[in-house]
Amino acid sequence: MHIDGDAFFASVEIAKNPSLRGKPVVVGKERGIASAFSYEAKALGITRGLPIYQIHKRFPQVVILPGDYISYTTYSEKMFDIVRRYTDNLEEYSIDECFADLTGWDKPLKMSYEKILLRIQNEIKEELDISVSIGLASTKVLAKVASKWRKPGGITLIPDNLVYEFLIKTPIEKIWGIGRRTSVYLNKKGIITAYDLAIKDEAWVTHILSKPYIEIWKELNCILVSKVDPRKKDTYASIQKTRTFYPPTSNPEMLMSQISKNLEGACSKARHYSLRASRVAIFLKTQEFRYYSCEISLLAPSNIPEIILPIVRKEFPKVFRSDRVYRTTGVTLRDLVSGEMRQESLFGEDKKDKKFEIIHKEVDALVEKFGVGVVHLASTNKAFRKQTRGATDTDDLDRNLLFL
Ligand SMILES: [Mg+2]
Repeated sequence: MHIDGDAFFASVEIAKNPSLRGKPVVVGKERGIASAFSYEAKALGITRGLPIYQIHKRFPQVVILPGDYISYTTYSEKMFDIVRRYTDNLEEYSIDECFADLTGWDKPLKMSYEKILLRIQNEIKEELDISVSIGLASTKVLAKVASKWRKPGGITLIPDNLVYEFLIKTPIEKIWGIGRRTSVYLNKKGIITAYDLAIKDEAWVTHILSKPYIEIWKELNCILVSKVDPRKKDTYASIQKTRTFYPPTSNPEMLMSQISKNLEGACSKARHYSLRASRVAIFLKTQEFRYYSCEISLLAPSNIPEIILPIVRKEFPKVFRSDRVYRTTGVTLRDLVSGEMRQESLFGEDKKDKKFEIIHKEVDALVEKFGVGVVHLASTNKAFRKQTRGATDTDDLDRNLLFL
């Protein structure tokens, strides 16, 4: 079973304050961009990452709220506890998603699987006043397809004999674990839907793809590879580094150097936990405490600053203006994936990744031994010579860090 909260952050805000029900609600005021929104806001055309000031101007009727991550975490825990009434074997996958293994529970509970899903969905609705979508199938990859099938408030079961009927209507890039770069590669090989991949034989798959994708292929064919893992996670949903400096500056090189330093620190933390980011967000905060930010999708998950920095540098002009004076910069690594799920030896660029990985192993060891700053990127140099005042403004912190 895979359970996914529907517009979770916005739903929690509405559960906390029911007078918001039916209204377009956007969360993300403190970050300056829409990080979550209700279905009513989505219907207006609001997308993830849209700047708050633009939403304000274009859709004055939208209710804009700062993220309240303490509440989201509380609701999340309560939601998972409801699921645990039916099975202990639950894996907290993210703040609003979990996998749970229901195998065999239909008999002792004297209910069909469908009935169990309905009961769970109803209890979450009644006790927490939030809506979830639930999918059930033989494997995690298929359960994810099922929970996404009908949203919000959906319940979808994919029995083994109907799997292909679902996969034929599912584009390959919608499959959990298949990134943008891999789907482009697979498209070139004639794989457009998940069905196209599922029906390939093992020889073709092992020739064309690396281990994580062979596992996805197996799971598409109802062979369980990834078991539900009920162990508590000690990883992070996102990693952020931010710093306020003094005096404030309009110098783009100095700001890029600060961002480089933020990124270097965040990447180092990610490597420590064997995590790689699929998305990177940067922000600049002005003297007037206004935020300007943007979010970038990486072609492949990474924790190597030398790979990410050139991409960030290209986006920087979108948030920077020479007539503003800035006091803080920040970098957030988002959509973290653990080390095992990487796209190994599939593409040429991996050689470059590997090379940097070896270098960073050595650098990380030096930093461990002699302290932060003993070795750093040349692009971070200016930031190191700059006087700083305090480390971090607490209001800049991404509270998502609290979770997982
Ligand atoms: Mg969700």
